[in-house]
Amino acid sequence: MHNDAIIPFFSSGLQSESWQKQLTQGIKSKKQLLDYLELENSSIYAEIDASELFPTVVPLTFANKIKKTTPDDPLLLQVLASEREFIQAEGFVEDPLSEQTPQQNSSLHPLLHKYESRVLIVLTAACAINCRYCFRRHFPYRDYIPGQKGIDNIIHYLHKHPSVNEVILSGGEPLLVDDHYLSGLLKALCQQTEISRIRIHSRMLSVLPARITPTLHQLFATLPVPVILVTHINHGQEIDAELIKKFKELKSSNLTLLNQSVLLKDINDKSEVLVELSESLFKAGILPYYLHQLDAVAGAAHFNVTDSKARKLLKIMLEKLPGFLVPKLVREVSGFSSKIPLDLGIEPQNIKN
Ligand code: SF4
Repeated sequence: MHNDAIIPFFSSGLQSESWQKQLTQGIKSKKQLLDYLELENSSIYAEIDASELFPTVVPLTFANKIKKTTPDDPLLLQVLASEREFIQAEGFVEDPLSEQTPQQNSSLHPLLHKYESRVLIVLTAACAINCRYCFRRHFPYRDYIPGQKGIDNIIHYLHKHPSVNEVILSGGEPLLVDDHYLSGLLKALCQQTEISRIRIHSRMLSVLPARITPTLHQLFATLPVPVILVTHINHGQEIDAELIKKFKELKSSNLTLLNQSVLLKDINDKSEVLVELSESLFKAGILPYYLHQLDAVAGAAHFNVTDSKARKLLKIMLEKLPGFLVPKLVREVSGFSSKIPLDLGIEPQNIKN
């Protein structure tokens, strides 16, 4: 099962905000995307559309960052439903992190308790953008949407597990919920549990900057626990002047801003692209946090970068950047209680002075 097209599931019913209107006006088919980018004469136009495997969803704010008439644009390749998704590559499966198996899948939907001190709440059933490499592209989201009862269950669960000090909101896209819903949830978590921080994993802010509303600022600024916002930006071309302005505004809400990227073939698997991404993130007030090796999800094998190439790229980043701008190169492995750093194989005796 795949996630559906964009729906702000937890709207409070108040009048739609501009970001919600922008969502409804986004691109919803491969043809629409390629027409918009003036790629009617490109060979990719004739390729079989893989949107039936995972719907095409691209907000115009993201599409506007893609260079027109450029079939190999690194932002386009992240969202283009390619016929290569039909290839059944060995080792690439629907649930690469075993999140849907009984031992990982808490009976307390929508909560995943994979790490001892952290729980993850799958907050929404959809995304503002559908990234073709997404490891949850087959995730049965509808089983995980929390209603009020689900939230009560989460709070009850946290009372019974005092070792949990951090709640992570993930998705889908957690910031598809409106500010009213988000405010109620976060305040309930802060007031009724002992958690000491909240982390939000969101691609929304970079693909739809209008989501950074004054109410969202206010909420983050007034919560009694620190908020860590982990953005998901894979290429420096995603960071434009508007985004820099928005993130600088957000910083004034006392947030910690981190970024995670996925290493993707033909998109960001060049050292100069990764170095430029780190520099651009820093200009936007965001620190690089993780560079993920691809999760082996069915339909995404064409994005895979070998471990050996990934290590080489990171070594070059270490040479070219200060340490605080070098993300950790990691892989997530089903059943492990943390992400696994890829050993770079650098021995002290091999370091040249
Ligand atoms: S925004 Fe995140 S969860 Fe949504 S499709 Fe992209 S990678 Fe997957």
